[in-house]
Amino acid sequence: MKALLIGEQREGKLLDSTYELFGFAAQLGAETAMLLVGSESQLPAYSGTLYLADAASCGEYNPDLHKQLLLEAVQRENPDCIVFMHTSYGWDLAPRVAASLKIAQVSEVTGIVGGGLEVGCCNAKMRRTVKPATPKTVITIQAGAFPAGQPGGAPQVQRLAAAANGRLEFVGYEPAEKKEVDLTKAEVIVSAGRGVGKKENIPVVRALATALGGELGASRPVVDSGWVEHSHQVGTTGQTVSPRLYVACGISGAIQHLAGMKKADFIVAINKDKDAPIGEIADVLVVADVLQFVPALTAKIQR
Ligand SMILES: Cc1cc2nc3c(=O)[nH]c(=O)nc-3n(C[C@H](O)[C@H](O)[C@H](O)COP(=O)(O)OP(=O)(O)OC[C@H]3O[C@@H](n4cnc5c(N)ncnc54)[C@H](O)[C@@H]3O)c2cc1C
Repeated sequence: MKALLIGEQREGKLLDSTYELFGFAAQLGAETAMLLVGSESQLPAYSGTLYLADAASCGEYNPDLHKQLLLEAVQRENPDCIVFMHTSYGWDLAPRVAASLKIAQVSEVTGIVGGGLEVGCCNAKMRRTVKPATPKTVITIQAGAFPAGQPGGAPQVQRLAAAANGRLEFVGYEPAEKKEVDLTKAEVIVSAGRGVGKKENIPVVRALATALGGELGASRPVVDSGWVEHSHQVGTTGQTVSPRLYVACGISGAIQHLAGMKKADFIVAINKDKDAPIGEIADVLVVADVLQFVPALTAKIQR
């Protein structure tokens, strides 16, 4: 089994998630080669073959040119699978490559189960396992689903250049509007999940955040329901945070939420379900009703 991993740089900086591709390949038991369009100053610590194309000449993102480069690397390596992170880069480029090669694509893979690929469905409330029906597969993996691999060493670089012009020109990035709350700098975050029940209960969680000198975070359903602003959302479609303390109140621990907060130094989860998945990563799981436990804790801290 051979995997061609598609690394990513953004504005010349190697994304940490590139190492999760190695973690996935290790679980698959696959030999690896990597393709990276970027600058030579930020290469992964990895001793295998690295196909490197210069972002200065073909753009940090240009679907036509990057697809050309990828197909060239596929021709040289003949991999069984081509693996992207499920980022905006991966979800745009992966289907183009799968369509060109006329092979299956499996998106947002969260696990490997008995030779099949596990993906979320029904808004990640359920998981299903699929097996590609073509000998080769294009795969995108969910951020945070696989531990970062640590291959180490220096890559054997083989340079690639795109042959023709693409139909698009990469112009550049523009920073998103400044967030109302910058959770990435917070040392303490207390987050509200759907288990909080209703908008009127959000102040209960906010009071604990204030008592601990921290910020209010939230899971996506809480934001989607309009209980708090999107700038408070933690997870793959919110902010990625790494506070010293993360308190999850009524949050189940879906992979998309964990991807945004599992790097916290210490995690306390308050959940009435003792088997909630968040218990697998929490340092402390308090099995209680948030609406009873949180006000009592806040009062104690305030005292
Ligand atoms: C493409 C995509 C992107 C996504 N991005 C994100 C993201 O960025 N961030 C994110 O959070 N989610 C994201 N999601 C959604 C994610 O899959 C989950 O649906 C979501 O995280 C669940 O939020 P929750 O834990 O608050 O709610 P639930 O999963 O409904 O969990 C509620 C929890 O509260 C507990 N509970 C209920 N009542 C009480 C009570 N009174 N006291 C204590 N505990 C109680 C329950 O036992 C349960 O564990 C995304 C999904 C998709 C498909």
